[in-house]
Amino acid sequence: MQHVFSGNPFDRAEAERRDPNWIEQAMRRPGTRILPLWKLNVLISRNSAPALGWLGPELLDRVSKQCPTPVLLGLRDGVAHFTVDVSGIEDPASLGLESGFKFEEARAAAADVSAQETGIIAQAKAQIDWHVRHRFCSVCATETVAERGGLQRHCLKCSALHFPRTDPVVIMLVHKGDRCILGQTRARAAAGFYSCLAGFMDQGESIEEAVRREVREEAGLELAEIRYHSSQPWPFPSSLMIGCHAEAATETIHFDSEEMTDVRWYSREDALAALNGKHPSLKVPGPIAIAHHLIKAWATRDVR
Ligand SMILES: [Zn+2]
Repeated sequence: MQHVFSGNPFDRAEAERRDPNWIEQAMRRPGTRILPLWKLNVLISRNSAPALGWLGPELLDRVSKQCPTPVLLGLRDGVAHFTVDVSGIEDPASLGLESGFKFEEARAAAADVSAQETGIIAQAKAQIDWHVRHRFCSVCATETVAERGGLQRHCLKCSALHFPRTDPVVIMLVHKGDRCILGQTRARAAAGFYSCLAGFMDQGESIEEAVRREVREEAGLELAEIRYHSSQPWPFPSSLMIGCHAEAATETIHFDSEEMTDVRWYSREDALAALNGKHPSLKVPGPIAIAHHLIKAWATRDVR
């Protein structure tokens, strides 16, 4: 299934982006589209149906002194699309944007734009965030330069190449019979949400091993069969959520109180009511998050 933040329509222009002259010309070509991000907020146009606020290449003349080199997102119908970090501009109002154009937080924006555009938000936000955090070489601390339209950074002193990172996270709905496990992390306790268990994968670990380890750590449960369901790019800042269903082999919960405020079994009826916003106390994430769809697939018996 296709989640929010996937569905990116671009040809990522692997061949074209190797040629710096092609990129330089594409950036200035009339018709080229530029998506600015300001402090990781994305420009949205709300003049009619909410959509990404693409601007023309003349934007680059106005911001080039205060902003880093634009990042090539890709091609669509032969038109080059770039994103540029305009955080160096103190007040975005000075960009002289048309009325109805506004910089918005990525999650809020993604709730309103088309499915394909949510994939573009994920790519643009993760790319710009990576460049902001990885200006300097992690080997020799020299400032690096962006190459291949932003798909690598090169240290000209020690020759090290650095590539954009994606951090894999396993997220799993644990179930047994007519019950499933939902937990509340310390981070989400204030909002009152319960969700699937989840955690970053370790190095040297398969997806299945990460699922078993996280469930053991967070809930003290052992698992029988694990099934992959679907995945979701999650650009906060650059995760890939790997969604699974896992059948519990044991039933007694011992949760890790350092990380979790609560982990418990819920019935299928509880899960269905919470998904529909009709449960008196249980709140689960909305459809923007893969957790919602993992719970729903199980609750509606899409999963054995
Ligand atoms: Zn270096």
